[in-house]
Amino acid sequence: MRVVIDKIIQETESVKRFFLITPGKTAFNFLPGQFITLRMHGHERSYSIACPPNHEGVIELCIVLNPEGKVTPELWQLKPGDEIEISEALGSMVLPEAMDTDVCFVCTGTGVAPFRSMIGHLLRSGELKHDVYLVFGNRYSADILYRAEFEAWAEANRRFHFIPVLSREDGVHKTGYVHAVYENIFADKRNAHFYVCGWEAMCREARQRLKAIGYNRRQYTFEQYDG
Ligand SMILES: Cc1cc2nc3c(=O)[nH]c(=O)nc-3n(C[C@H](O)[C@H](O)[C@H](O)COP(=O)(O)OP(=O)(O)OC[C@H]3O[C@@H](n4cnc5c(N)ncnc54)[C@H](O)[C@@H]3O)c2cc1C
Repeated sequence: MRVVIDKIIQETESVKRFFLITPGKTAFNFLPGQFITLRMHGHERSYSIACPPNHEGVIELCIVLNPEGKVTPELWQLKPGDEIEISEALGSMVLPEAMDTDVCFVCTGTGVAPFRSMIGHLLRSGELKHDVYLVFGNRYSADILYRAEFEAWAEANRRFHFIPVLSREDGVHKTGYVHAVYENIFADKRNAHFYVCGWEAMCREARQRLKAIGYNRRQYTFEQYDG
């Protein structure tokens, strides 16, 4: 499907939010957590949909520039009004039909994109019956995507817990890496489901650590951005 770029926001030094619009602003069907594949100069790349489902045909993507990459430098040249070709919504990292346990979302950088869609959808769908944690790793506080929004959501919903973790900055937020944080929250091994999204090294380590705590394969879902 060809879509038009409606708006682009430079969110941080290296991340842009792209707002795409379907022809005629007809709704684009997707489940929170899914991604689209974009075709550019013969290359295909996948991007998670960063917004919850909506009736306006808006598809938000949140993309980090890889200056050495083949596709993202091309995306950085695009302007509002340009058209791009995308696939239908794909992917199986979606919410369960019934939320009957605590949920922990673990991500770094733009790995937060599908979780913004999922958490936005959950909060819109009614009061949370279980605790929902977002453990979000970044290097510096300036890198925390959607920070004001997540803070406002946590303020308004006592069961939503926003936990930024910074690896290269001390201060009000937790320091270090995401892994020690969820290990600590779930040290009691209570029933929970984990969603993990980001680059290979973080996903691999999370898989090992969750297994070591005692969670089984049915209790975690991964979306790996590379490899
Ligand atoms: C299901 C899925 C969803 C995705 N969703 C997103 C998303 O929402 N936002 C987003 O920014 N990306 C997302 N990606 C990654 C995206 O598809 C591209 O891989 C990325 O944009 C780099 O494309 P490129 O052509 O510029 O670089 P390439 O030419 O593909 O770069 C070569 C290699 O560099 C590595 N690399 C690139 N960027 C980084 C980085 N920041 N950190 C560590 N290693 C890196 C990867 O190993 C990659 O294979 C997703 C990938 C998948 C599979």
